[in-house]
Amino acid sequence: MRPKAAPCPKKPNPLESQVDNDAHANGWSARNQQFLSYFLSRFGQRRTIPVTSVLIAISAGVGIGAVVHHAVSEAAMTVRLVLSMVAGVAGLAVVRRKLAFDYAQQSAATALAGGLLHANRDCLKVLATDGKMLRVSEHGAMLMEAESPEQLAGADWLDFWTGEDRTAAEQALAGALSGKSASFTGSCATTKGRIKWWNSTLTPVTGDDGAVAALLCASEDVTQQSELLKTLRERDELMHEMELHVRLVFYSYSSHFERCHHVSAGVESVFGLTPEELSNRPSAWLELVVPEDLEPLLAEMRRIATEVAEGRCEYRIRRPDGCVRWIRSTAYPVCDSSANVVRIVGVSEDITLEQERLAALEHLAHTDGLTGLANRSALIRHMKTLCRQNVAFALMFVDLDRFKVLNDTLGHTAADRLLQDIARVIQGALPPDACVARLGGDEFAVIVKGDSDKVSLATLAQSLLNLFSSDVRKDHAAPFVTASIGISIFPEHGREHDALLTSADIAMYAAKKGGRNGFRFADEASSDVLGDFELERNLPTALASNQFVLHFQGIHEPASLAVKGVEALVRWNHPARGLVAPGSFIPILEESGFIVEVGAWVVDAALAQLAVWQAAGSKELSMSVNVSARQLRDDALVAIVDQALRKHRVPPRCLQIELTESALMENPTLAQATLMALKRVGVRIAIDDFGTGYSSLRYLADFSPDIVKIDLSFTARLGRDAAATSIVRGIIQMSHELGIEVTAEGVETNQQLHALRDAGCDYVQGYFLTKPTNAGNLVHCESFAPAFAAGATSSCSD
Ligand code: C2E
Ligand code: MG
Ligand code: MG
Repeated sequence: MRPKAAPCPKKPNPLESQVDNDAHANGWSARNQQFLSYFLSRFGQRRTIPVTSVLIAISAGVGIGAVVHHAVSEAAMTVRLVLSMVAGVAGLAVVRRKLAFDYAQQSAATALAGGLLHANRDCLKVLATDGKMLRVSEHGAMLMEAESPEQLAGADWLDFWTGEDRTAAEQALAGALSGKSASFTGSCATTKGRIKWWNSTLTPVTGDDGAVAALLCASEDVTQQSELLKTLRERDELMHEMELHVRLVFYSYSSHFERCHHVSAGVESVFGLTPEELSNRPSAWLELVVPEDLEPLLAEMRRIATEVAEGRCEYRIRRPDGCVRWIRSTAYPVCDSSANVVRIVGVSEDITLEQERLAALEHLAHTDGLTGLANRSALIRHMKTLCRQNVAFALMFVDLDRFKVLNDTLGHTAADRLLQDIARVIQGALPPDACVARLGGDEFAVIVKGDSDKVSLATLAQSLLNLFSSDVRKDHAAPFVTASIGISIFPEHGREHDALLTSADIAMYAAKKGGRNGFRFADEASSDVLGDFELERNLPTALASNQFVLHFQGIHEPASLAVKGVEALVRWNHPARGLVAPGSFIPILEESGFIVEVGAWVVDAALAQLAVWQAAGSKELSMSVNVSARQLRDDALVAIVDQALRKHRVPPRCLQIELTESALMENPTLAQATLMALKRVGVRIAIDDFGTGYSSLRYLADFSPDIVKIDLSFTARLGRDAAATSIVRGIIQMSHELGIEVTAEGVETNQQLHALRDAGCDYVQGYFLTKPTNAGNLVHCESFAPAFAAGATSSCSD
């Protein structure tokens, strides 16, 4: 049967004009009987059976009469006549019995044929030799959706067919007319115009003369099968198309993968094997699996078969063309009603691209973008593996000293290059199996595998430090490149990666505290360092949690002891430790760069307090604020100061910015520029801790500060140490000659106060006068009120 493009247009129905709408009184079975009797009377009963029977009867009668006549020819005429009559009657009796017998057979045949006809589900038709439909079976009429067989009678059978089907019908008709049965499959419309598919067979019915007298046409309604087949074929084609174009392999294997039932065409592009190769050699694909991946794959296949569970496996194959591909196969066992696995179906796909992307992502996720070294997560992963496998190793935590300064002075691009060089130097100095990672910023970490004793680790750490100060420094215009290294050892300092990281970090911190450019082992860190380390961890959240507070210390006029100004000194109100002095956290803030934010807060809070005091009457009171080297390098410093002054409506001359000598010296050019900008704003500049740093009076000329604050170490020696007294006097004299005022810090005794007064010192500051305390306490100090007279000594303290 040929497939048809569905749906077919409605075919013209030759009967439509002849449809007889009259209802028929007779039932279906009566009509069947009618059809059958017509058929039998026309082509069977009348022409074949009675003629034969009559001929038999006649020949039998005549034959018997002749024999008897011949045998008794000598007898009398009467006897002859009687005998002849007896013979004739006997012959007729035979014939009659024969006819009766035939009739009985005929009736049985008619009944049988009637039953058969009734049972026949085809559309039966008797066609005249010109193709006109003489009779149609009752069921046939029903299949053709006709009101009755009569509605179809007389219609030209060929007119039901169109197109190719018409040609096939014509050929079948011509064949049947020539005496040969002919069949064809085609579609034609019913009387209601519905297209149906038919398997039609035309059988010639010949008359006595041997000529074809009529045609019996039996058409089986195969519409349902045809549509089903069409759907199946379409589905099959769709599947085939999909299998062909999708780069997936659909397969069906026997329960233990020993036979291949089906494998889709995609196997050629994915595995480089043809479906034929696999059906001949079902395990051909397994031979392509790379040796390392074969055992896990086979184990998964065994598991799927034995546990009757779905499974999935990713493995590599080396295709016949030599290229290696990643494959992901999924398998689902299919069971029969008794829960026996009948086959395993699944899909295999080429996931090479996906794997490559994953590998690239994995690389990206575990690599430091700047240096190409492993990053923190890769280091941690590596450490976890070593800890799990109980492999001895040492962790070195390398942190560059004052990198923030280098970053700011060299610029970011040069600093990045410096980090890259450091990465190269570290890698070059270590054994090839050492893992070197950059944890971020200027922090590096090294894992040295093996049972390293402390002596060899110390040698390694020292050689790294030497390389930093020689190799790296040589390549860059950096003033110095040093690092601090902390070393922890597995399992001595911890069995877990995080314990080892923390102890190496603490050891590194201890190395920094110990003067930088050195290394420490984890067990060498003191409890002080541990405490500081913990503080460092809490620092980043301190500002947001309002944990910083300001204390203030008075700056007095030495004769009257009147308070001319106050110095703001920051404290960290730690939730667990209470007030923490700036010496414990300012260096950490500086190192981390956090000082910029905290410093901005100090300026703002100090001026806010000054504004309150000025508003309360101390109009000329000044505020001193300490600014560190890191803040000085920050572009925003001048703006921060300017804005705070405006915000709190404080005259700029009432703000004194204190900078240490070393802060100024870290980058003298930049410092000078910032100082000039601050001066333009109108604030006063003080050089703090004078005498401790570079102690060059040249800076006094270069930076032209407004005030010099003599370091408390000199004040402490006043009166006890003649040299110190001379130095203090010299500083005061020289400063005055340059138009710079002098404040002496750390005045603890009356003797010191007198010495300073005698030396012409402009201001004094120290515990003897006021101790730093919070703003609330300070106003209650006797000496605080500007109106207070000389002689008042501090009664205030923290
Ligand atoms: P500094 O600016 O030289 O401050 C003077 C330090 O000497 C203060 O220590 C003060 O408490 C202490 N002091 C005052 N009078 C006496 C005395 O008679 N005897 C002794 N032994 N010490 C005295 P403090 O408050 O611990 O501050 C230490 C340093 O921390 C400050 O030295 C300053 O450099 C820095 N600092 C304080 N607050 C800030 C701030 O807000 N920003 C920055 N960048 N640094 C700050
Ligand atoms: Mg100060
Ligand atoms: Mg000082």
